[in-house]
Amino acid sequence: MNRVAAGKVYLVGAGPGDPGLITVKGLERLRQAEVVVYDRLLNPQLLRQIPAAAELIYVGKRVGAHTITQDEINGLLVERAKAGKTVVRLKGGDPFVFGRGGEEILLLVEAGIPFEVVPGVTSAVAVPAYAGIPVTHRGYASSFAVITGHEDPTKPDSSIRWEHLATATDTQVFLMGMENLPLIVEQLIAHGRPASTPIALVRWGTWPQQETVEGTLADILQRLEGQPFGPPAVIVVGEVVRLREQLRWFDRRPLFGKTVLVTRSRDQASQLSQLLSDLGAKPVEAPAIEIREPEDYGPLDATLQRLRDYGWVVFTSANGVEAVWRRLKALGLDARDLAGVQLAAIGPATAQALESHGIFADLVPEQYLSQAVAEALAQRGLSGVPVLLPRTDLAGEDLAGALAQHGAQVDQVVAYRTVQAATLEPEVGELLRQGKVDFVTFASSSTVKHLIALLKGDISLLSKCATACIGPVTARTARELGLRVDIVAQEHTVPGLVRAVLERSSGGEEARWG
Ligand code: SAH
Repeated sequence: MNRVAAGKVYLVGAGPGDPGLITVKGLERLRQAEVVVYDRLLNPQLLRQIPAAAELIYVGKRVGAHTITQDEINGLLVERAKAGKTVVRLKGGDPFVFGRGGEEILLLVEAGIPFEVVPGVTSAVAVPAYAGIPVTHRGYASSFAVITGHEDPTKPDSSIRWEHLATATDTQVFLMGMENLPLIVEQLIAHGRPASTPIALVRWGTWPQQETVEGTLADILQRLEGQPFGPPAVIVVGEVVRLREQLRWFDRRPLFGKTVLVTRSRDQASQLSQLLSDLGAKPVEAPAIEIREPEDYGPLDATLQRLRDYGWVVFTSANGVEAVWRRLKALGLDARDLAGVQLAAIGPATAQALESHGIFADLVPEQYLSQAVAEALAQRGLSGVPVLLPRTDLAGEDLAGALAQHGAQVDQVVAYRTVQAATLEPEVGELLRQGKVDFVTFASSSTVKHLIALLKGDISLLSKCATACIGPVTARTARELGLRVDIVAQEHTVPGLVRAVLERSSGGEEARWG
């Protein structure tokens, strides 16, 4: 541990939901934490940044279970810090905006425990921003207030002084106000806000499921009727709400509102998930496979020890590249042992994996179909040439066969294994059953096979979503297993797959509107 002083508490704001809205400093603290104490509404993606060895303590409310009290939380912080731990107290939004951050810190002060505060992006400003509503805007609003909507405004002991507040600032932002919305509207009108004042309610702001309802103080309650619009929601009152019409952006992104299943292994899912969420989709990771080491490294090691005997090494996946490099390192070898050997990468993603190790592929065939790959290699001369094919245990024989037909002496070795994931998250089955998944993506044949197996063969669960495959080989597997294939990417890469989903999605919109 390169710690200078022992035992400190960092009170960190996590932002309103979008994991990108934590501050750089907050993320750093999270990555160094030994204990993290967190509440409800935190994005699970943020929690994944916490070191695996750290102790994670959930103190949010749980339906029907014991609710941990504020005293207990304070006690926890003090106790862990006294034990010398680096503690992160992670809170939604900004810790000092209706976050009880001050209360928790006061107790640390009493106990003489060192602390720091890392402010966060508050929902009071960020949620309106994600709905296209600036809280101030020249000509519309030159002031704003952030108010708790939790207090019953009709109670005589309410600390909200409506007669002053209703017209004191141009914009008002209420947090925790949904339950009291009728009372808030009533009090604003009673104390001088015109009934025609625009109001917007934004729930799950900055999350993929963000929803906004607009109206005026006069009609907002009517507009809500029949729609469940529960918390968490921010209420914005003022002329600035009108700007949303022009400034909305988050819920205008092309895949907004679409739920997309990502079936790649957990380790490989992030690029696909990121690209999808950048376009507004909600990626749901449902890893169907896991990548594991081979049961026996013997055959791979033997070939790596005599790499120079090969004319070509043909990599058929980024996983294969990573596995070979891991093993080279374990054997005390490095890239120089590949000197003089030509390297082929089956597609751009595999070529990229090679590049990340400082090596450019000598050949990347135009098409990933075994025949085409073999022909491309054959043009460079394959007759009698030893070719190494490091691959997964599940690979078919097509490529090896095609290479052999051109006279190559092919050695296939298992560099890694592709195994079925233990289970699907219960959420995934639930979403599929309810028809709430718009697209399911397959980046390899093995993801198709194993997802179907994890669904216990019930392919009807996939009938309501569009099936998107990374290329023709994956699509063929999907059809053979009885799936309807709706989309096959033109470019057989992860970005190509996302582009194909996007094209289908916007094509669909046009059809609906046109
Ligand atoms: N410290 C937090 C606020 C805590 S109070 C902050 O600075 O954001 C909790 C209230 O915040 C909720 O009732 C809701 O009004 C608001 N809120 C938090 N996250 C939100 C979100 N993603 N979308 C809408 N409202 C949110």
